[in-house]
Amino acid sequence: MPTINTIGFIGLGVMGNAMAGHLLAAGYRLCVYNRTREKAQNLVDAGAFWCPSPAELAPHCDLIITIVGYPADVEQVYFGDAGLIANARPGTILVDATTSRPDLAARIHAAAAARGIPALDAPVSGGDLGAKNATLTIMVGGDEAAFLEAKPVFDRMGKMAILQGGPGAGQHTKMANQISIAGCLMGAIEATTYAAAAGLDPRKVLLSIGPGSAGSWQLNNMVPRMLDGNFAPGFYAKHFLKDLRIALDAARAMKANLPLLELAERLFAKMSAEGMGDLGTQALYKLYESGLV
Ligand code: NAP
Repeated sequence: MPTINTIGFIGLGVMGNAMAGHLLAAGYRLCVYNRTREKAQNLVDAGAFWCPSPAELAPHCDLIITIVGYPADVEQVYFGDAGLIANARPGTILVDATTSRPDLAARIHAAAAARGIPALDAPVSGGDLGAKNATLTIMVGGDEAAFLEAKPVFDRMGKMAILQGGPGAGQHTKMANQISIAGCLMGAIEATTYAAAAGLDPRKVLLSIGPGSAGSWQLNNMVPRMLDGNFAPGFYAKHFLKDLRIALDAARAMKANLPLLELAERLFAKMSAEGMGDLGTQALYKLYESGLV
């Protein structure tokens, strides 16, 4: 089994910067690239090597992690003459940690395999704090041999990495995660709206229902923020809308009928149209408060 010495990291935003930092601290040689160069400066100052493009980064690396924003960004980084697949050495493991389309993950796996390059999809949950504290949950799709080789690297960034199945299985698992969050968030908001309509004090209601079987992370963490008028992003509403749309497309392709997911997509699309895409997901409460649902 080849040893991983040099890791490439592309996408150094909220999540990627912290994740890459853990790999550097663990002693890996790190090559970095990001669309906006300034976001790499802290890592370069700490010893990482700046590469001006994916094509120039790829040949130096034993494993390359990408965590960019949207599926279109993933396409740009992986495909074409200047992309990772055309420029990585056979045997280099490609890991896309972006929350992206399962069918795109399968396409990357097939195109990479044709050049002797293993590819994994490995989206994460745990948010910016999970990235900072190296406590992410990593949901992986792809071949077992590549997973086992990449596992020590995953263990530097997260507390749990599970191979869920073949190419795209990591993205499908992340979609299941996002669908469950949508239901918990909408349930928490409707419970709060109902309590307020009944003339109750929603904070006091939370004391009764939060610890019981109605409790969820969304109910116990997001409702206090909503009631405080704190709509700052932990997770951007615009990124959640992206995820809901990926999940809805995949569900339709699989002929899975998911009415809650359809409603969530409609409500988050409305939030975006109302200019709330840069707020946190809990700002969905504002849509209920203003009667726009
Ligand atoms: P972000 O802060 O916007 O970071 C994305 C980074 O990727 C940006 O620095 C961006 O460059 C860079 N990038 C985009 N396209 C690129 C390209 N073609 N070439 C090179 N760099 C490119 O977003 P994030 O919050 O880290 O999220 C990243 C992904 O993780 C998203 O898919 C998100 O849904 C997912 N995720 C996020 C969280 C969270 O809590 N934030 C949790 C779980 C999963 P610029 O600096 O030029 O914009």
